Amino acid sequence: MKKRILVTGGAGFLGSHLCAALLNQGHSVICLDNFYTGSKENIIQLMDNHHFELIRHDIINPIYLEVDEIYNLACPASPVHYQYNPIKTIKTNIMGTINVLGIAKRTKARILQASTSEIYGDPEVHPQDEKYWGKVNPIGIRSCYDEGKRAAECLMMDYRRQNGVQTKIVRIFNTYGPRMAVNDGRVISNFIIQALQNKDITIYGDGSHTRSFCYVSDMIDGLMRMMNSPDDFYGPVNIGNPVEFTIFELAQLAVRMTRSNSVIVFQPLPEDDPAQRKPDITLAQKILGWNPQVQLEQGLMNTIQYFQKILNIS
Ligand code: NAD
Ligand code: UDP
Repeated sequence: MKKRILVTGGAGFLGSHLCAALLNQGHSVICLDNFYTGSKENIIQLMDNHHFELIRHDIINPIYLEVDEIYNLACPASPVHYQYNPIKTIKTNIMGTINVLGIAKRTKARILQASTSEIYGDPEVHPQDEKYWGKVNPIGIRSCYDEGKRAAECLMMDYRRQNGVQTKIVRIFNTYGPRMAVNDGRVISNFIIQALQNKDITIYGDGSHTRSFCYVSDMIDGLMRMMNSPDDFYGPVNIGNPVEFTIFELAQLAVRMTRSNSVIVFQPLPEDDPAQRKPDITLAQKILGWNPQVQLEQGLMNTIQYFQKILNIS
């Protein structure tokens, strides 16, 4: 059945891939974005599609739309960007989420919240499963994002319990791929761009901390499976690739795959940077039948080719 689907943050990295995938399935898509970290370039190839509509709007302000489904992705995701204006970040997560939940309540639309592995903070449990409540610093420099996303999860659950809104929560683990912004500041885009330009590869800390990296097509598949799952499965559910790498291993891989002359340098580790992160995806495998398909080297190759093209590097 053809649906009218709102994607907030639709001009961002994940949002632009999601809009394209939903249009491919024959749905009508409304992309709402304030272009804080997103860009028109990300969605330019969708503009000619008559089933695609773009609204420039800041989700901290109310908006009235008639839709069947909502994916709430509006929020800067990179630490550099969400820490640039932390008050705005927490406003987006709380006031923005209240506004989209208002649309969901009024129109009886199903709504999926793009939550994050950051709600686990610097975890004492490894790998992290959905039952773990996390270890988050409430007053640190990452709190605007971590606590904002935790409050957004709380809002999702309270609107479900109090108002019967059909909510879904996905906890997204580190995701990468084409259309990450050049100035994004997250580790994969930083390392690839530095390697392609033969600049120093900046490892924060000693490189022993870990992350598990999910390719964008796997993530979009996971988000859509969750949206289309039965209403009594509302999450939270982890979606991420459970293969764990140290940041040092990632730096070496970026240098090797780009045949770069870059040198790896070590810089201070930012405050509250989680030491390790790896999703337990048993729930997503069991209920959604979801499994990541793209291995890191393949995903990195696609991402390297993307940055070569937009940076004009042969
Ligand atoms: P992104 O920064 O590329 O995209 C976010 C989009 O939201 C941008 O287009 C931005 O302009 C828009 N936006 C920000 N504030 C807004 C506001 N107030 N009103 C309207 N639009 C606004 O980031 P992304 O990686 O695509 O992340 C998308 C979502 O997924 C975010 O909610 C993020 O927290 C979540 N997430 C992403 C990752 C990841 O690894 N990519 C991990 C965990 C969670
Ligand atoms: N990182 C790094 N060099 C960079 C960017 C990030 O060593 O140029 C590290 C960062 O300190 C963190 C990990 O890579 O330990 C992942 O950082 P990212 O910003 O991608 O996402 P996070 O998982 O911290 O939100």
